Amino acid sequence: MSRSAHPAGPRHADVLPEGHYSAPPADLNALDAKVWAQTVGRDDDGVVTVGGLDVKTLAERFGTPAYFVDEADFRARARAWRSAFGADADVFYAGKAFLSRAVVRWLHEEGLNLDVCSGGELATALAGGMPAERIAFHGNNKSTEEITRAIESGVGRIVLDSFQEIVRVAHIAESLGRRQRVQIRVTVGVEAHTHEFIATAHEDQKFGVPLAGGQAAEAVRRALRLDGLELVGIHSHIGSQIFDMSGFEVAAHRVVGLLRDIRDEHGVELPEIDLGGGLGIAYTGDDDPREPHEIAKALGEIVSRECEAARLRTPRISVEPGRAIVGPTAFTLYEVGTIKPLDGLRTYVSVDGGMSDNIRTALYDAEYSVALASRASDAEPMLSRVVGKHCESGDIVVRDAFLPADLAPGDLIAVPATGAYCRSMASNYNHVLRPPVVAVSDGEARVIVRRETEEDLLRLDVG
Ligand SMILES: *Cc1c(COP(=O)(O)O)cnc(C)c1O
Repeated sequence: MSRSAHPAGPRHADVLPEGHYSAPPADLNALDAKVWAQTVGRDDDGVVTVGGLDVKTLAERFGTPAYFVDEADFRARARAWRSAFGADADVFYAGKAFLSRAVVRWLHEEGLNLDVCSGGELATALAGGMPAERIAFHGNNKSTEEITRAIESGVGRIVLDSFQEIVRVAHIAESLGRRQRVQIRVTVGVEAHTHEFIATAHEDQKFGVPLAGGQAAEAVRRALRLDGLELVGIHSHIGSQIFDMSGFEVAAHRVVGLLRDIRDEHGVELPEIDLGGGLGIAYTGDDDPREPHEIAKALGEIVSRECEAARLRTPRISVEPGRAIVGPTAFTLYEVGTIKPLDGLRTYVSVDGGMSDNIRTALYDAEYSVALASRASDAEPMLSRVVGKHCESGDIVVRDAFLPADLAPGDLIAVPATGAYCRSMASNYNHVLRPPVVAVSDGEARVIVRRETEEDLLRLDVG
């Protein structure tokens, strides 16, 4: 399913169909429960509904494009992760997937913790009411100002990412008269992808301290010597959109190996192990993600087994799902504009957003599905490509899609599973205004992030 066969350089939208689209679905009106939020369905008129409200009404009230989040679904997924991992483990939602004050409140109420990786995310987390001790601060290049603010506000942990940062955080903590709880992020030499992983001795990437060459052991040695730090655990994050647990197995094996070495050298058993996030979701009907309870069981067993073999007490496990919680809970609603059939190729369906509200297709060759949302249709399937309104031929939202052949300008179409890494990565390219995020629940809709205005744009432009 890899699309990396594209030549390097700008990606032209006029590449011939490569045969990676599947056959048209039997029923174009069906909404596959795998990719749609839990309360999504069609009403008697065939209009898509979420949380009891239909998208035509929602579009009239909030405009398009817009992201609609199914709050009940979000809470259910957060709760499922929380209860799957139980009282002996912690679930940190990765704020970078999507963060707003409302989301922070939902997470707090459902008993989750929160990962942030910038001053802006920390500010949002605190403004949303997340207790600081339940916040973890990440990042490979935290500024002095960010570290200071994190320590002053009392974050529960800072995840140290380099030798320099060990000293920097210790110094700032000491100068503030604090002892900061920290974990050290290590790179274990496991690169995990959707259905496979690669185990290597070295990792060629910017995050963490390599286990290889004794570097992580040296980082631990230094952190244990510094008064400003309380080293509580080791952190590892191996990838994203992962379906196969075997990468975690290798990572846990290597991290527990480090915990054993630390015990042997220093006589301390670190109490925590964080296995990161990266658990996959279904973007199309072909994806088969695991349920949180299966993941919790698998990770728990892997860590216990490894610790038993190393004769270590099993540490407290934490995980950091972002996409797996928020991804499936939202869809983007667009209005169809220009429709351009290209004979023998496909039909280009332009919408009123694009790569500014969903960069993942252009950036990662991500796959999405799409459905006609403002009505049902019995028309024949039409091989389509959903594209945006930006001045860029790579401005593709859904590369291969089947939409009904009677699609017309003014129809509303919806792209599911856009809750993660869409609004959070949105841009103002072409001075397009970033869409709002609307939470829908029990027949009520509420804007949680408002639509950007031209005034917002011009306020930044000081002339
Ligand atoms: C991005 C990230 C996550 C979340 O990844 P998902 O794929 O959204 O689950 C968790 N932990 C760390 C350290 C990350 O960088």
